[in-house]
Amino acid sequence: MDLGIAGKLALVTGASQGIGRAIATTLAREGAKVVVAARSAEKLHELVRQIEQDGGEAHAIVADLTRPHDLERLVMEAQSLGPIELLLGNTGGPRPGAAQHMKVQDVQAAAELLLYPMVGLVGALLPGMQSRRFGRILFITSLAVREPIENLALSNTLRAALTGYAKTLAREVAAQGITVNTLGPGYTLTERVEEVFAFRAQSQGIPLEAAYAQQTAQIPAGRMASPQEIADVAAFLLSARASYLTGQAIMVEGGAIRGLV
Ligand code: NAD
Repeated sequence: MDLGIAGKLALVTGASQGIGRAIATTLAREGAKVVVAARSAEKLHELVRQIEQDGGEAHAIVADLTRPHDLERLVMEAQSLGPIELLLGNTGGPRPGAAQHMKVQDVQAAAELLLYPMVGLVGALLPGMQSRRFGRILFITSLAVREPIENLALSNTLRAALTGYAKTLAREVAAQGITVNTLGPGYTLTERVEEVFAFRAQSQGIPLEAAYAQQTAQIPAGRMASPQEIADVAAFLLSARASYLTGQAIMVEGGAIRGLV
């Protein structure tokens, strides 16, 4: 299927590793020009080299999305390359911990990482999408929006907030050719997962391998996802072809969620 995104400009944040990186390379392979943003210049430049080697087009912008000034600069630099038609909003997960130990400052910091940058990016990019009557907005969340995960209270809380924002926005702009969706990855083999499982093994006093085995035993697919499996769904959701798909929280989780919907 031709996704219809060749030549379109995509902004992918949190692109230096893991799921964001896989999405950036997939969009580039489909012919989109990608602007990749994250904090690590070295990793971003390596990614740009990789994309260019594969015949794609990419541009790196180093930015910490928790800093409003960086966000402003990111948007200005990205828009100087052309109209941004596809936005993939992604950053890292907040630190683990139980809800009962959550402090207001922790919630603030998690909102600065997961929610505020996404609202800021939309504020800056939406007017252009509206004037062109085309746009694709996709935020990476987590399967935790359907089934909160123990000891990830900040993630559970802020992903739900972002999902509520996305759903509200989706209805407001649906008639303007703009779709807004969220993608909740299940357990996916990235650096982030290694961090989560190290914490889990430590807090339960079990070996790391046992923590992984415990989890995969609960996934009907019998394994974790590869970042590419998440990226393939993301690329479709960001594509011109997904024109009647909006306001959805799509879970890509190997059957892990037990709920009916
Ligand atoms: P990751 O930690 O490997 O990668 C996160 C990316 O975001 C990196 O490029 C990092 O540099 C960037 N980033 C982090 N903080 C940033 C900041 N302040 N400014 C700019 N860039 C920043 O994570 P991942 O495994 O690829 O997951 C992506 C998202 O999906 C995360 O929010 C994660 O919590 C969530 N998620 C992951 C899984 C999984 O199993 N991997 C499952 C559910 C949800």
